[in-house]
Amino acid sequence: MARFAYVNGRYVPHADAAVHVEDRGYQFADGVYEVVAIQNGRLVDEEGHIDRLDRSLRELSITWPMTRRALGLVMRQLIARNRVENGLVYLQITRGVAARDFKFPKGVKPSIVMTTKRMSFGPAVTVSAGVKVITLPDIRWKRRDIKSVSLLPQVLGKQKAVEAGAFEGWQVDEEGYVTEGCSSNAWIVTKDGKLVTRNATSSILNGITRQTLLRIAAQEGIEFEERPFTVEEAYEAREAFISSATTYAIPIAQIDDRIIANGHPGTLTMKLRQLYIDYANGVEPAVRSTGTGSGAG
Ligand code: PMP
Repeated sequence: MARFAYVNGRYVPHADAAVHVEDRGYQFADGVYEVVAIQNGRLVDEEGHIDRLDRSLRELSITWPMTRRALGLVMRQLIARNRVENGLVYLQITRGVAARDFKFPKGVKPSIVMTTKRMSFGPAVTVSAGVKVITLPDIRWKRRDIKSVSLLPQVLGKQKAVEAGAFEGWQVDEEGYVTEGCSSNAWIVTKDGKLVTRNATSSILNGITRQTLLRIAAQEGIEFEERPFTVEEAYEAREAFISSATTYAIPIAQIDDRIIANGHPGTLTMKLRQLYIDYANGVEPAVRSTGTGSGAG
């Protein structure tokens, strides 16, 4: 089956999809992106992702290339054309094409591209065994709340993790506190059973999956704290896990050379994972009353 991409108003064969060499995303990483999961044909947490896209664009003074409603239609059209039941939509908006110059160009239309990918969420073997993460210094800029396409530190971090036989790298700030994974948020369940994830300031990307998991936890009466935690506290934790749109919640069995608890996926982690999967399928009670969450048709 031919795969399509969406590039600035056109659906084009994936193999031919291209932007100009003077696109500012290519030259300056002057752009933002979002990744939205598709589960059983439904866009998961669509509203949250598009709200965050809007925020990222505003923070960088990049204008919307189309209306929000049109964006929703394009996403659905691309999913339908590529017949994706389970997978993701990747979308990227940059400041546009202009002769290379640092300052913002005048009168330039932002560029938008969109692709889809088929995949399953957290392959069963990864989930049942738990994954390994390693810790690394966080070498990123200070506006990590913006979902910018400038991802070089995370590329280097993820590569280091893979070379160490790990699934993810946990980035650690100068005070020894975990900020987040290279492409996920970081969580622990403390020795006394409290769910902890870092508070959302400009030091992390406020994951949409993170926000939904916190909402689900609140609905389920699960106590949580939003605060930084140290690597040492994570080593001693009862459970640890990561979250992102493409993994949901995945249990951690090992951090660096330390096995977490008994090395098996934690009970609370697996409960939250299941609740999130139910939510993604539109199952009550975690479904949002105001969410769009409509089918991908
Ligand atoms: N932090 C970082 C640095 C990320 O790249 C991601 C995934 N893009 C996340 C957290 C998780 O965010 P979300 O749940 O919205 O996918």
